[in-house]
This record gives sequence, C-alpha cells and structure tokens, in this order.
Amino acid sequence: MGEESELFRGLPEPEQVRRRTMRAMQNGLHLSTTALLAEDGRGGWVLRMIAGAGLDRSVHEGAPITDLGAAASVPKTRKAMLLNPDRPMAMRVPYQSRAVELAGAMAMPVGAGLLWADRRDEPFSDQEFESFQDAAQGFEELAIVHDRLRLAVGQVTDLTETVEGARAILEASSERECVKVLADAAIRQSRARTALVVLLGPTADDGVVVAGAGVVARDLIGTAVSASDGLVGLALRSGIAVPTNLRFLSNTDAVVGTSNLGLTPGEGVLVHPLGAPEPIGALVLAHGEFDRPGLIHGVRTLCDCTALLVKQFRLRDLVAHDAMMDGLSGLYNRRAILSRLVEAVASAVRHGTELSLLMLDADHFKRVNDRHGHQAGDRVLQFISETIRRNLRESDAAGRYGGEEFAVMLPHTPLLGAVTVAERIRSFCEASGIPLSSGSVTVTVSIGVASVGPGCKRADDLVAAADAALYEAKRAGRNQVKARQT
Ligand code: GH3
Ligand code: MG
Ligand code: MG
Repeated sequence: MGEESELFRGLPEPEQVRRRTMRAMQNGLHLSTTALLAEDGRGGWVLRMIAGAGLDRSVHEGAPITDLGAAASVPKTRKAMLLNPDRPMAMRVPYQSRAVELAGAMAMPVGAGLLWADRRDEPFSDQEFESFQDAAQGFEELAIVHDRLRLAVGQVTDLTETVEGARAILEASSERECVKVLADAAIRQSRARTALVVLLGPTADDGVVVAGAGVVARDLIGTAVSASDGLVGLALRSGIAVPTNLRFLSNTDAVVGTSNLGLTPGEGVLVHPLGAPEPIGALVLAHGEFDRPGLIHGVRTLCDCTALLVKQFRLRDLVAHDAMMDGLSGLYNRRAILSRLVEAVASAVRHGTELSLLMLDADHFKRVNDRHGHQAGDRVLQFISETIRRNLRESDAAGRYGGEEFAVMLPHTPLLGAVTVAERIRSFCEASGIPLSSGSVTVTVSIGVASVGPGCKRADDLVAAADAALYEAKRAGRNQVKARQT
C-alpha cells in the first residue's frame, strides 16, 4: 500500500474538490444552502456535506435523512430539477425536518446521491440553473477519474504481488518449500483468510493437503482428499478456476474432500488447479473477495509457476534416482552402493558401531550364459537380486557391484550376524531351481563377509577384506561363505 499513497500524492481528494466546488457555488450563485446527499446503501439517505447559514441544530454531516422533501422525485427521474415558486413559500427541504421559506431550489442527481441548492430571497435564472449543473458535473467527473485511478492502482498492486509471489516460488529449492511459498503468496495476492494447497498422488485419484497459510484448521494439513470430491474435484476435472461466481453456494456442500472450511453460502471461495492440462493439484482460497478484476490472472500465474517448478523437482528426483539404480537388478549401481558404503564406514568408525559387508559372486556364471544364452543369464541375475532383497532389513543396502557380483551392506550388524544372512542367501540359491525357457537351472553363489574392526579406516579396507574372503570361498570350492575381520 506504500506505492498507492505515492501515486495519489498531490492529487486532490474528491472530498476536498467537492467541498471547494460547493463553496464556489455557494458564493458564485449567492445560495442560501448547498447540500450533498448520499444513498446509504440500505435504501436510505445520509447528509454527506452541507454549506449554509440558519440551519437547524440537528443538521450535521453524517446525519440520516428521513425525507428528501421537494427533491424526492430526482433520484427516480435522474434529471436536474428547478423549482421557482411565484413568490417565496415554505418548502420541505431534504437536509432538515423543518420547512424553509424559499424563493428557489435546484436539485440534480450526482453519482450515488444528489446535490441540492436553495435561495431564500430570489428565484434562480436559467443561466444560474445551468451553472449549477456544470459545477456539479465537474466534481462528479473528478470523482470518476479518482475511482478509475484507484482501481488501476489496485491492479498495479496486485500485479506487484504476483511478480513478488512468482519470484518467491521460483526461489524454492524443494517441492515442500514450493507449495508452502505458494500458500503464503496466494494469501498476500488474494487477501484471503485461508489458503490450502492440495497435491495429487501418482494415480491422480486422490490427493493430500500438503500446505496451508492464514487461518487453517491444523488437522487439515496432511488429510487425504479424494480428487473427485468437492470444489477441488471440480477444479481438477474442469482445469479452470471454480466456482464460476467465486462464491460458496449452499448446494455446494464441500470444498476440500468433505470439508467446507466453515464457509457460509455467499462467502468468497476460489479453487484453482495447479497446472494444465494435467493438473498436479489445486490451490484453495477461502473467506475473502475474489471477484476483483485481474485477481484470477494473478492466482493462475502463481499456480502455473508452482506446477512447473514441482514438475521440475520431480523430474530431477527421478533422474537422480535413475542415476543411482541398476536397471537389470533394481538394486543400487556400483557408484551408488560404494557412495553409501563410504558414508556408512565413516559413521561406523566415528561412532564405534558395527557394520558388515557381503561380497557375493555367482559361481560358474559364464557356463549359464554359454549354455542357456545371455537372456537366461540376465534372468538368473534377477533371481539372485530378488533373493538378496528378500533377505535384507530396511536399513541394509544392496548393489550390483560388477557383472555377476553384488555388494550388500549391513549396518549395526556384527560379523556373525552377517554370516548368518550370507548363509541364508547362499542356501536359498543352492536349493532353488530357476525356471528358464530351456528348463530350470540352479546357480550357486560364493560370499565373502567382512566387518568393520580395528584395521578398518575406510570403505576400501572393508571392500578389500570382503573381496579376500570371497576369493577364499571360491578357492575352497565355491558355494560357500567365508568371513574376515578387519
Ligand atoms: P566364478 O565361479 O569363478 O565366478 O566363475 P564365473 O564364470 O562366474 O566368472 P567369470 O568372471 O569367469 O565370468 C563371469 C561371467 O558373467 C562373464 C560374463 O559374460 C557374465 N556376465 C557379466 N555381466 C553379465 C550380465 O549383465 N548379464 C549376463 N547374462 N551375463 C553377465
Ligand atoms: Mg562368478
Ligand atoms: Mg565375477
């Protein structure tokens, strides 16, 4: 609002201009009384401004008017009126209840009200009537210019909020931050009392309230909402802002899921989809006035920015995920498992906690490829991967270390525990026939196990020890588990 006062500086207030014009009329036309009456918005009238002498004590600006008196027809006809009785007579005037003896009266509709002028000693000439109308017209026109300017300033302020909001959104560094910034920016932009952001899940059938700003029922954040219910559902299906009149209707019983956010019929509500044509969620604004010009535009800009950025974040995460995974096995790739191992060894050494590593290699795997083909070989690798996965805990991590070699990291697990896990995997492979198109095949595995001990400073030390144990297992005839302390 700082910019607004700046733009209005030096510009006369319509109120001042009216008063000055009234004074000029009063003197120039030798008026007894000039009064500006305004509609009070409830079907009644109020005395806005008055100049004159010999008025009732009850006459003061802001006083309600019960009777427009001789001017009663003016609001209906919307025409200027001139009353010049043959000789001065008592007339009912709009500004006070007591009748006044007048030689002439004029009234004219202006804006949302009417202007009244009277004279006690002399009737008005046509020339004077015209001057009265010109002067009244002048100050009305200024008021119109003022209103338009105020509207334009309002739009500039809205636009500034949009630009600021969009910038804040684009500065977010995560999806979480992005939606929170959207909620805040939308509150500032719309002056709503409540803002909520709903994001859809992967199937787009349901969503979750992920962020809020303003007055928000705390238990609403995190609630699941069906993507087909309420105004959110409507916005997602239509791809545009809803409801059309931006007001809560009595027959629209829900906004977010089954909640109506405490809205009463007629209150302002605006639900805008995030992104088009396939929205990733919706922004909900409740309790406020949302039908001013340009507001939806601003809200749409904020929503579009958010949708674009969230999609980028998701793409980035997907790429990062893909870059860590091995396509064939669905386990980590060599780089990723090594990087996790470096962290885990550093942590285990620093905190003195247990950590074990399995290095697993398929036995005589070349033969499988030679006899059954490369595709069958791949199938066997997938079987081994799945066997490993099924024998792990949440905190464990497994990766494909090389062609038919796997590394499995077991935090908080001593050597003996790791040997048990390794043995379980080995015996399962030994006992399993893997179905192939050319018949079933059994592939055994050799596993080297090592644990972080006094001799282990870095991940390389642990890998070397597990490798040595694996080599030992191979040398001892394969299909077995060997262990080494570091
Ligand atoms: P050992 O018991 O000594 O480990 O014998 P091995 O035959 O398993 O070992 P070797 O290192 O001689 O051969 C490994 C084979 O694994 C050679 C290669 O063709 C195969 N291999 C490596 N990566 C893949 C893969 O992604 N798919 C398939 N099908 N085979 C692979
Ligand atoms: Mg092998
Ligand atoms: Mg090998």
